[in-house]
Amino acid sequence: MLETLKEEVCEQNHELALNGLVVGSGGNVSGRDPDSGYVVIKPSGLKFAKLTPDTMVVVDLKGNVIEGKMKPSVDTGIHLYIYRERSDVFGITHTHSPYATSFAARGERIPAILTPITHMLGRDVPCSRYATPGEVDTAQAIIEAAQGGMSALIKAHGLFTMGTSATHATSLAMYIEEAAKTTHIAMLHGPVEELPPEEIERCANWFKKNYGQSGDKKINA
Ligand SMILES: [Zn+2]
Repeated sequence: MLETLKEEVCEQNHELALNGLVVGSGGNVSGRDPDSGYVVIKPSGLKFAKLTPDTMVVVDLKGNVIEGKMKPSVDTGIHLYIYRERSDVFGITHTHSPYATSFAARGERIPAILTPITHMLGRDVPCSRYATPGEVDTAQAIIEAAQGGMSALIKAHGLFTMGTSATHATSLAMYIEEAAKTTHIAMLHGPVEELPPEEIERCANWFKKNYGQSGDKKINA
C-alpha cells in the first residue's frame, strides 16, 4: 500500500544522508497520505544506506502499525502528535544537522538575517524550551515554538521541519542548515542585523508569488 509515498519518504531519508544532515541512523523523515490519513515513516535504527521503500513503516495517527515488518522510528510519536495538531502538515523531517543544532545547543533561535531562507519560512527559525527526548513533551514544545510556522529547533536536541510533503519538509531542513552555517560564519565577524518585519513579509509574499513553475510567468526586468 501507499507505494508512491513510501518511495518519496525513502528517497527523502536518503537525501538527508547524501546532504550531510545526518550520521548513522539518527534523523528521520515521514509523510502523510491525504486520503487515508496514514503516515509512512523510516524504521527505527536502520542505517540510511540500507533504507528501501519496502523497509518503510505505515502507521495510523494513533501509532498502530498498519503495514511493515520493522519497528517504526523512535520519534514516531512526535511525528504523529504534530500531524494530529497540524492539519496543514503532510511531511515532517528531523535532523541533528550541526550548524542548526549549534543554535539549539544554546537554546537560541536562528535570526532572519538572510533573504533566501526568509522567503521560504516567512520568519526566523524559533527555538523551543527544553523537552524530554522521544516523548510527547517534545512534540508539544515544537508546536508551541513553531506557532503555526514550518520549523522549530528543539533546545539541546535538533531541528524539526514541517511541510506540505516529505520532499518539502526535507528541502526546508537543507536550506535551514545552509542558512544556519552562513549565519554562524557572519556572527563570527560581529553583530548581525535582522531583516525588519515588513521586509520579512514582503520576501515571503514575493516567494509565494514567483517561485517554481506555478503562478505568474512574467519576469520583472
Ligand atoms: Zn533527534
